[in-house]
Amino acid sequence: MELREKELACEIVRDLLPLYVDGMVSDVSKKSIDNHLEQCTECSEIYQDMTCHLEMETPPTEISDVKRFLKKTKKMYFLYGLGGLSFIAVLVCLIVDLAVNKGITWSLIVGSSCLFTDALLYALFTCKKDKICTSMAVISVGAFVLLSVIQITRYYLLGTGTVWLFRYGLPILLLWLLVLWLPVLGGTFLKWNIWDCTALFLFLVIIGNYATKLITGDYVWEDVFHMQGFTGNALGEVIGIMIFVMVGRVTKWKK
Ligand SMILES: [Zn+2]
Repeated sequence: MELREKELACEIVRDLLPLYVDGMVSDVSKKSIDNHLEQCTECSEIYQDMTCHLEMETPPTEISDVKRFLKKTKKMYFLYGLGGLSFIAVLVCLIVDLAVNKGITWSLIVGSSCLFTDALLYALFTCKKDKICTSMAVISVGAFVLLSVIQITRYYLLGTGTVWLFRYGLPILLLWLLVLWLPVLGGTFLKWNIWDCTALFLFLVIIGNYATKLITGDYVWEDVFHMQGFTGNALGEVIGIMIFVMVGRVTKWKK
């Protein structure tokens, strides 16, 4: 009788072992399985086999170290390759520019574009903390430098176009950088979720659209307060904002 009872206990324990290993059993079950494993060598052997298998599944640290090293090396090779390619491209442009124009003109624009792209990719690849903020900083500075270079090259070196940078270029650039920065700052420092950040972004896009038109003169102040043009300018964004705000509330509520 006692033997049959022990057999039954073993059977139950072995059925529960997978759950026990995963820590999915209740406290009471855990206690009685603990007791059984202490007394029963067969069951404790099975248990040890199971945990051994579990350990085999997660790679030992050395292998993960090697993997991490390979990933890092790949990244570095990619960045070096990119830098090398950009360098060659800019060099070729400089030579052609010097030969054709007897001076440095459009190759300045190519060079700064390459530098801008490289800097952005470098930031994205190497930055671990605050990746978005760092990338945004690179974009902000890079866009300013790039616009300035284009303006200087076109107007002062090539003698074409007008001085648009200070009239339209910079105000519009600052405006749209603000449109990008505010949601990023909200997400980073105020810990807003992605839905709220997107909703804020869309709201700022509406303001950005109107403000851009005001700056370029496509729009005058009176037009802002008319419904005319609202559907074309802001309706899509308004619907988007409502959807994103709702999704944001639902995800928060579910947590
Ligand atoms: Zn047993």
